[in-house]
Amino acid sequence: MCVFCRIVKGEIPSYQIYEDQDFLAFLDISQATIGHTLIIPKQHFENIFVLEEDLAGKLMEVVLKISKKLKEALGIEAMNLLNNNGELAGQSVNHFHIHLIPRYENDGLLLKFSTNQLSNEEFQNLLEKIRL
Ligand code: AMP
Ligand code: ZN
Repeated sequence: MCVFCRIVKGEIPSYQIYEDQDFLAFLDISQATIGHTLIIPKQHFENIFVLEEDLAGKLMEVVLKISKKLKEALGIEAMNLLNNNGELAGQSVNHFHIHLIPRYENDGLLLKFSTNQLSNEEFQNLLEKIRL
């Protein structure tokens, strides 16, 4: 059983800040910044590609609720939402989760996007592949 399923079952302790029928939110054990929180569905889904749609909708409501609580309680004005899917994306626990990472002046956290220069043709080709 995965580590987050064990947290849901109460087999591993966690600092829980929210629980309802479907979701659990608890403090990340390695606080990237103070207040770094994880939200997980109680049911085990490996990643976003297999997450149940109904649940995904409800999940966003929980994300909003907890974001507002963190903003108020920690006095923050900035926060990153992060969700890693797959090893290449940095997922280390294979139970879907969303990171809520409060941001502070000089908090030292580096999230840096690289840039790729695409030609118009490359953008067009890409669009043709992925447009829904
Ligand atoms: P990710 O790299 O996106 O899969 O994130 C997994 C996160 O889970 C990491 O930030 C870990 O610090 C966190 N984590 C792992 N085990 C625990 C645990 N027992 N309690 C709380 N957070 C954990
Ligand atoms: Zn699990």
